[in-house]
Amino acid sequence: MVTALGAGATGLALFAARPAAARDDDDDHPSDSGRPGRRYIIRDGHVMSMDPKVGDFAKADVLVIGKKIAAVGPHLHAGDAAEIDARGKIVMPGFIDTHHHQFETALRSFLANGVLINDGSGSPSADPSYFEYILPKFAPVYRPEDVYISELFGGLAQLDDGVTTVHDVSQIHHSPQHSDAAIKALFDTGRRAAFGYFESAGGVAGNQYPADAVRIKEQWFSSSDQLVHMIMGGEVYLGPETYTQSWQIGRHLDLQIAAHILSPFGVRPILDQLAAGQGGTPGSNIGLGPDNLFIHMTGMSDDGWLGVKNAGAQVSIAFPIEMNMRHGIPPVVKMQSLGMEPSLSSDVEVTMTADFFTQMRSAMTLQRMVVNQMILDQGTFTPPNEWPTPAPGTPPLLNVRDVLRFATINGAKHLRLDGRTGSLTPGKEADIIILDAEAINVAPLNNVPGAVVSLMERTNVETVIVAGKVRKWKGKLPDVNLPGLRRELESSRDYVFAAAGVPQNLYR
Ligand SMILES: [Zn+2]
Repeated sequence: MVTALGAGATGLALFAARPAAARDDDDDHPSDSGRPGRRYIIRDGHVMSMDPKVGDFAKADVLVIGKKIAAVGPHLHAGDAAEIDARGKIVMPGFIDTHHHQFETALRSFLANGVLINDGSGSPSADPSYFEYILPKFAPVYRPEDVYISELFGGLAQLDDGVTTVHDVSQIHHSPQHSDAAIKALFDTGRRAAFGYFESAGGVAGNQYPADAVRIKEQWFSSSDQLVHMIMGGEVYLGPETYTQSWQIGRHLDLQIAAHILSPFGVRPILDQLAAGQGGTPGSNIGLGPDNLFIHMTGMSDDGWLGVKNAGAQVSIAFPIEMNMRHGIPPVVKMQSLGMEPSLSSDVEVTMTADFFTQMRSAMTLQRMVVNQMILDQGTFTPPNEWPTPAPGTPPLLNVRDVLRFATINGAKHLRLDGRTGSLTPGKEADIIILDAEAINVAPLNNVPGAVVSLMERTNVETVIVAGKVRKWKGKLPDVNLPGLRRELESSRDYVFAAAGVPQNLYR
């Protein structure tokens, strides 16, 4: 049981109790936030709910009781509730990352130039590559304590960035102890998370993937009233025996089944088989379903895409990573043509930041590059046809509202959490970020969604709330010993590099 840990998210120090205090006091966060019955109000912010039924407000309040949003609107009466002054701030739901490999935090920036697979070119992008170093060299030497500190540190870093929910795709399940370390770190981080039970990268001897899913589900996820839930990893590139087993276990346990679906490793014909209901080992006839969450979807056939759409499966796109590491062009235009929308994936910090402002800007910039060029190409580049009106059927340009939706409510839907999070809707849990719109890189405020997507970055994330509990306050994580955790991460990094036989080199 989770409660047997005695720790989990609640093991972190609570804030000192004090009355609703004067404004501009560094300690004036509401005490005991998130506790049952505790009331506080976020007053006079620019509230962007991401729920069309709730709407947006030039100035409004958000009332939080316990872990839930009780009301959103102007001039709310809140009695003696504590108050968070949000004048000059944007109040919106936290970001949701539907694919992040947090166990790689100790290896951050190691592979800043790398592509997926060594292509034999001899270039610095080909060597080191992801599939020669990260999974087969580094991952197999991880001990459970290495898993724990990377998972924890990477999770806290994203919490600091306003990412209140993650799907952690851990491929580090060399033993049940490794799995438990990853799960404990997700609980201890104190943000909402889907624990993705994927394989043992490098296939370390004695690993119990996928069969240990049954124990994990029972031991850690028998309650649905907790911040962390479970997703089954079902990589099709592990071969028909393994993926038949993992998909069958996942469906038996009523878990979502997630998989990387991308150009290499012979995945395209496998997706075609699945789309035809003929996947898996002979006779098992595995097909797609609404329980599938597919990552990337680069390089797939039209039949594969139709199968995914018709099954109601979800797609998570890692815009910056796919562009950098040769997955292919992020398939957002394909999704538009099918009437589908993605959620966003940070993927791997070995190559690119897990920052969500980068995610949103990359999504919008990539799509507009592709579509703008498509429109220019409809003309002749000479007068009078150098600036054509888009032809019928041209995909619409993404706008800031679209990518905000990708980054919030779409992520919630794709992790089956939209009854709980993804928008500022009364009755949902209070996963809220407060962004400083008076900062030097943002003022004067002329457009709320535009300022968030076009201008903001991590330093503008002033306050972060998860399930009613204030976790970031005035730019800091008050219940986190960052220097201590950083030293632990550095010493884990030193161990992992040495054990993998990879020299550390700051100017590789
Ligand atoms: Zn991935």
